[in-house]
Amino acid sequence: MKAPSHPRLTITVLRRVAITMIVALTGMTLVSAAPSPDAGKLRIICFGAHPDDCEIQAGGTAAMWAARGHKVKFVSVTNGDIGHWREAGGPLAKRRLAEVMETARILGITTEVLDIHDGELEPNLENRRKITRLIREWNADLVLSHRPNDYHPDHRYTAVLVQDAAYMVTVPFFCPDVPILTNNPVFMYCPDRFQKPNPFQPDVAVSIDPVIDKKLDAMIALESQFYEGGANGSPALLPSDPQKQKERRQQVRDAFDKRARDIANRYRSKLVEFYGQEAADKVQRAEAFEVCEYGKQPGKAELKRLFPFFGE
Ligand SMILES: [Zn+2]
Repeated sequence: MKAPSHPRLTITVLRRVAITMIVALTGMTLVSAAPSPDAGKLRIICFGAHPDDCEIQAGGTAAMWAARGHKVKFVSVTNGDIGHWREAGGPLAKRRLAEVMETARILGITTEVLDIHDGELEPNLENRRKITRLIREWNADLVLSHRPNDYHPDHRYTAVLVQDAAYMVTVPFFCPDVPILTNNPVFMYCPDRFQKPNPFQPDVAVSIDPVIDKKLDAMIALESQFYEGGANGSPALLPSDPQKQKERRQQVRDAFDKRARDIANRYRSKLVEFYGQEAADKVQRAEAFEVCEYGKQPGKAELKRLFPFFGE
């Protein structure tokens, strides 16, 4: 049956009106173009395998960027739905989403959790497309992730997926539905202690002393993972006595404070390189990052532009 002509006419007219309005609005934007508040701001995206990895690895530096108006997004590539000794599935995924949303509020950043089951991440084409689109959509200057030699399969495959995207973000006919990045971002790894086939070698170390309370507050907000112990926890970690609960929270804070101090001490020479000896000697807690060989290869000036924290 032939469609009545009247509705089709109406649609055509509406389409013309819409196009006219778009042209008018675009014209207005051009005429009244004011500098965007985001002009000159960096855009950083960090991929972690689980809803806690980005926070552990880059929570302090993220807060430092955010405090200067730069835009940071954390992406958990899996939903964390087996990351607890007592509970699993949808309810745990929802709980972990709520936890990272709270950390994002604390750190002043954006966060997203992909709905892929924890422990089941595969470095396949579908996921390569997902990661490529996310990096393009964020218009990233800098991309952070795990290294590909790591104990957890989800960490390894997150790293591989991000490596796989490092060049593809610039290729127009891969995911042609999302515009390419004409400037290939810098890709960097977060630290781990694995030695084979090669240990982590930092290219930048950042003092997170100015934001350490925010970082530790974020760790406390990830309650299912650290206060309750995550997949390898047990009921013994959950005291009913309020005083003991307070002590348990302090224990979590102290553990992450020590971790940040260990990174500062381990990579002190890199702190000296960027801050100078005197300032570096005073740094107590740090985060560190290593340049990936794929993506843009930054010189020292570019690293200082991406990490605008030195000499303060
Ligand atoms: Zn993880």
